[in-house]
Amino acid sequence: MFVPGLYDVHAHLADSRLSAELPAILQRCADEMQAVLVNAARQPEWQKVLEIAQKPGMYAALGLHPFFLHEASDDWLAQLEKLVAAELQSGKLIAIGEIGLDCWDGRKQIEQQKNFLRLQLELAHKFSLPVILHNRRAWPDFFGLLKELRCSRLLGVCHHFNASRQIAKQALDLGLYISFCGPLTYTQSNRLRELAKYIPADRLLVETDCPDLPPQSQRGAQSRPWMVEEIMHCITELRRVSMSTLQEQIADNWQSLFGKQIRKVFTEIRKRK
Ligand SMILES: [Zn+2]
Repeated sequence: MFVPGLYDVHAHLADSRLSAELPAILQRCADEMQAVLVNAARQPEWQKVLEIAQKPGMYAALGLHPFFLHEASDDWLAQLEKLVAAELQSGKLIAIGEIGLDCWDGRKQIEQQKNFLRLQLELAHKFSLPVILHNRRAWPDFFGLLKELRCSRLLGVCHHFNASRQIAKQALDLGLYISFCGPLTYTQSNRLRELAKYIPADRLLVETDCPDLPPQSQRGAQSRPWMVEEIMHCITELRRVSMSTLQEQIADNWQSLFGKQIRKVFTEIRKRK
């Protein structure tokens, strides 16, 4: 179902900074890209994300990013579950995200963050959905939480992966995919570049985190989903593969990660006939 081309597994197209330009962005995505996974960061974005996902090639991930937990309503979990249950059969809601733990600013909120993450992981499990993970300076807490939950397999994506090779191995052992974005293309990103060579081809993904983390040629500006191409160019050089090989691999990886969600819809349609 997913054919070779450009895929962005992590873009925030519902971000209010993009409102004015959104129709033009969606048009260019439709012209140039195979698929974009639109990630929610905050509860007020959920409806907008679902609305954008109605477009061909657009998909939705709904969740709460660790930075925006304070603005969630008291009944956020019930709201999220209601939306997920209602949207699941559309084949457009294909993941729970962006969720995770962030200790960039210290560990003050870690227990609250772990609680929100646990509830969202349980929701993903309930609906058999992959997760889009944002973990920063919090990997030991993340692996510890999974252990508490007796979770030894997890389908999902480590977005903007930027940790050590040892942590990458732990994530891969769980079954997670590793996604690279703009910073990989910065000339000083030696550690990231080594990692991009190390990750097995069948676990590799690319993203822009649009409108943030622009690639080298756009530094100082905002990123856009089609800029995955620059990140892919960087990967083809690092791994010494052709662009068409990498495009095929990424389409295959989308298929093995999200294919089940899409297949479910087709089975439903067949059943109805
Ligand atoms: Zn993000």
